[in-house]
Amino acid sequence: MYLICNSCKTRIANQPGSVVFPCPKCGKYQIVRCYRCRRAAVKYKCPECGFEGPN
Ligand SMILES: [Zn+2]
Ligand SMILES: [Zn+2]
Repeated sequence: MYLICNSCKTRIANQPGSVVFPCPKCGKYQIVRCYRCRRAAVKYKCPECGFEGPN
């Protein structure tokens, strides 16, 4: 079982600093962000509702 970063599509395997959280808008989709993308504030987009973050 592994997760794919929503922004850069990198596989995350127990990477410290990575986060998984439900979409702030629809709550239906699990957003995955790796440490690198969080630090660089790279945008993510929910494929379910089109919500774009971070904010
Ligand atoms: Zn990433
Ligand atoms: Zn959503």
